[in-house]
Amino acid sequence: MAASRSEQHAEHDRDPVTDLRRIAFLLERSLASSYRVKAFRGAATALLTLKPEEFQEAAAAGKLTSLKGVGDTTAAVIEQSVSGQVPDYLAKLEQEGAQPLATGGEALRSALRGDCHTHSDWSDGGSPPAEMAWTAKELGHEYLVLTDHSPRLKVANGLTAERLHRQLDVVAVINQQLAPFRVLTGIEVDILEDGTLDQDPELLARLDVVVASVHSKLAMPAKAMTRRMLAAVENPNTDILGHCTGRMVRPREGRNPQGRPESEFDAAAVFAACQEHSTAVEVNSRPERLDPPRRLLRQAVAAGCLFSIDTDAHAPGQLDWQIIGTSRAEECGVPADRVINTWSADDLIAWTRP
Ligand SMILES: [Zn+2]
Ligand SMILES: [Zn+2]
Repeated sequence: MAASRSEQHAEHDRDPVTDLRRIAFLLERSLASSYRVKAFRGAATALLTLKPEEFQEAAAAGKLTSLKGVGDTTAAVIEQSVSGQVPDYLAKLEQEGAQPLATGGEALRSALRGDCHTHSDWSDGGSPPAEMAWTAKELGHEYLVLTDHSPRLKVANGLTAERLHRQLDVVAVINQQLAPFRVLTGIEVDILEDGTLDQDPELLARLDVVVASVHSKLAMPAKAMTRRMLAAVENPNTDILGHCTGRMVRPREGRNPQGRPESEFDAAAVFAACQEHSTAVEVNSRPERLDPPRRLLRQAVAAGCLFSIDTDAHAPGQLDWQIIGTSRAEECGVPADRVINTWSADDLIAWTRP
């Protein structure tokens, strides 16, 4: 569809859908609230259901706001775009977004072929799986692992086994549309207090990639937390240990105004188990997480661990955050051949099969 749209718009050189999606991408990349982004993604989706003549005529008649999903701000963007101008709103964002998100890490970033930790609107993300996949493809990725939350995380609308089964069907359809790009199936499964994982083991075994993370009782005593994490790391269904310390270095959308300290656990024991059981340690690129901290990242390198450098994106624009993780990884001496998402999708899946 993208090709035929751009052909139809050749005489204008601009496509309002592309401009609206680019605005949303840049807002998300700068960690704007999903509420602010919603209008632009909504308007882009609305235009996709119309023939170009329909919104061109509405723009010419000054009646864009009569279209469903188009408001004053988005109408101004569409109007300028249809007339062949760079929308002012977009020009301002491009200027603000010209700063790189991190320095260093470019070599490692260019070696990455995919992202193993991402969320869609099936749990607490802001966009449907197809939009996440489309953007990942535009960023040059060969694959994206969709890892929505597990049932116990009710605040994040975690998926029951039944919903996850349905999501697998949706992923199969997206894969037909975006081939050779691939959406791999996955989950970010909660590590429960006793170290078990919050989803049916048979279903976990069927998924391509399982990220296991602690999201509750982060302040439990170190001994208990170590036992809990070891059980998860040793579980044959676990492929990646997500954001291992749970720290927050800055507030996230108004929550945790003071940030959150690291969970306490025996890092030597946990990383030794990761090495032994071939569970990758995640380098989480989210600006408010930056997990693990550098001293633990260096310790995991020395322990011989594998790594996965992921965005934990909850919106398409956040898929661009990997450079933040690769910058830190490079600084801490993470070798590219020990980063599992520098591998092809086939090699990755061959490795994750329990
Ligand atoms: Zn998480
Ligand atoms: Zn996550």
